[in-house]
Amino acid sequence: MLDLSHRAEGEQLMKSRRDFLKIAGLSAFALGTASALSLVTGNKAVAAPTGVSPVKGTYTHEPNALHAKRWAMVIDTRRFTKPEDFQRVIQACNLAHNVPSIPGNQEIKWIWTDKYAHVFPDDLNDYLPARILHGDFLLLCNHCDNPPCVRVCPTGATFKRESDGIVVMDPHRCIGCRFCMAGCPYGARSFNFRDPQDYVKDVNPEYPMRTRGVVEKCTFCTERLAEGKLPACVEASEGAILFGDLNDPGSPVRKALAQNYTIRRKPSLGTQPGVYYII
Ligand code: SF4
Repeated sequence: MLDLSHRAEGEQLMKSRRDFLKIAGLSAFALGTASALSLVTGNKAVAAPTGVSPVKGTYTHEPNALHAKRWAMVIDTRRFTKPEDFQRVIQACNLAHNVPSIPGNQEIKWIWTDKYAHVFPDDLNDYLPARILHGDFLLLCNHCDNPPCVRVCPTGATFKRESDGIVVMDPHRCIGCRFCMAGCPYGARSFNFRDPQDYVKDVNPEYPMRTRGVVEKCTFCTERLAEGKLPACVEASEGAILFGDLNDPGSPVRKALAQNYTIRRKPSLGTQPGVYYII
């Protein structure tokens, strides 16, 4: 008698558990769908842009996609001599990725400029040429080999693609804790304190808009690489920024590194940045 009642209780428990899992599964599916659809501008859900997997929010690879074992960038700082040289590159990135233009200290930046002393504090002395000491330098996420931002993310929203070394962000998994911002020693990440869609003048419908409460940063243009195109900044730089496979001795970046003296940001931290500067 006792055994039978235990068995009945057990079966009831299993049924409730099955029902719960069924409902949880459906809810997760519904949430996932809603989340994928909110690759959006605001409250209106729109279809995911071309090449974007609506489930994962990542870009599917076209047959003509560009591939590398380790994508890297070389910026020839000697070629950036006037404000327009920087603006052309920054605008190309902002337009391609719907980077909002928010005034004040809630700025969102994927690629921006700063002075040498802030960019390369390890390589500073008072007697550097004026062009270097007082000039501007382009900054972006370094897509580090050993990225501290990835180590501190509690949800796996930011991760390094083992296939090509790019450090990406999945805004759907970002809970806005901003540990990654504290972890990044390069200030390469921005937090959306406001709804970014209110601050984008010319919306690119091909690129997903982020939402308030998530972190964002440069992605080395994964969406363009998937379509066989170079990053927007590289294209706009007219040869001043090189991009290629660090593992390929014949790539433009390896050739530039072999022919020029280059430095990287804060090498003493051991992050192994993937962005090199010809000074
Ligand atoms: Fe992460 Fe910052 Fe390195 Fe980019 S630059 S990979 S955000 S630690």
